Amino acid sequence: MSPLSISQNLEQIHSKIRHSCEQNGRNPHKVKLIAVSKFHPISALEEALQAGQRIFGENYVQEAQEKSLFLRPKYPDIKIHLIGPLQTNKAVMACEFADAIHTLDRPNLCKALKKASEKTGKLPDLFVQINIGHEQKKSGISPEEADDFIEHAQSLFGDKVKGLMCIPPHGEPALPYFQHLAEFSKRHGLKELSMGMSSDFELAIAAGATFVRVGTAIFGARPV
Ligand SMILES: *Cc1c(COP(=O)(O)O)cnc(C)c1O
Repeated sequence: MSPLSISQNLEQIHSKIRHSCEQNGRNPHKVKLIAVSKFHPISALEEALQAGQRIFGENYVQEAQEKSLFLRPKYPDIKIHLIGPLQTNKAVMACEFADAIHTLDRPNLCKALKKASEKTGKLPDLFVQINIGHEQKKSGISPEEADDFIEHAQSLFGDKVKGLMCIPPHGEPALPYFQHLAEFSKRHGLKELSMGMSSDFELAIAAGATFVRVGTAIFGARPV
């Protein structure tokens, strides 16, 4: 059996999103799909763009910038969301082309982004990443420090801080982690919740996700 095309995959994801919204009493217009395109060639993004997809998730600043430079002239309404760990020395670049950063997770990065936004006159939408499973090797602010850190980010960036992001521990039931992230966002009056990937975006929607980040289920396995 031949694999489905990118546009067919997108259709399937949208129908699953609608179904999950129906089941959980959510408004489907409040759940946006980020097509995670890291490592995939520009031709794959163009196929998705032609099918109507506009928001793309990328992990690496350089790769994301190249794709942005190539695609934006043709698709001015494309949105590039940076979803990978961000080094402070990439803050200027990120401010120049990214529409959103999902991985604000430490005071140093806040400082770098503040400076970068003053230098470039631009600031992407910001999401605070919380290391919701207390994992040693995962980035994100720890849940213990998250309340203070969110307030710190809000004091610097005001309502450019749109919401929160998490990646639950691999191989564990994800729902409690998604629900925990949702509690943080309520407490801080944040509207957006970036959570859920190919394997668990329907659960994330049940817990209140407003952005789901789906890669493999749209583009297939990532090239190495
Ligand atoms: C790669 C990546 C995704 C997409 O994962 P899939 O399992 O391919 O859907 C989502 N979020 C982040 C932060 C990623 O790095």
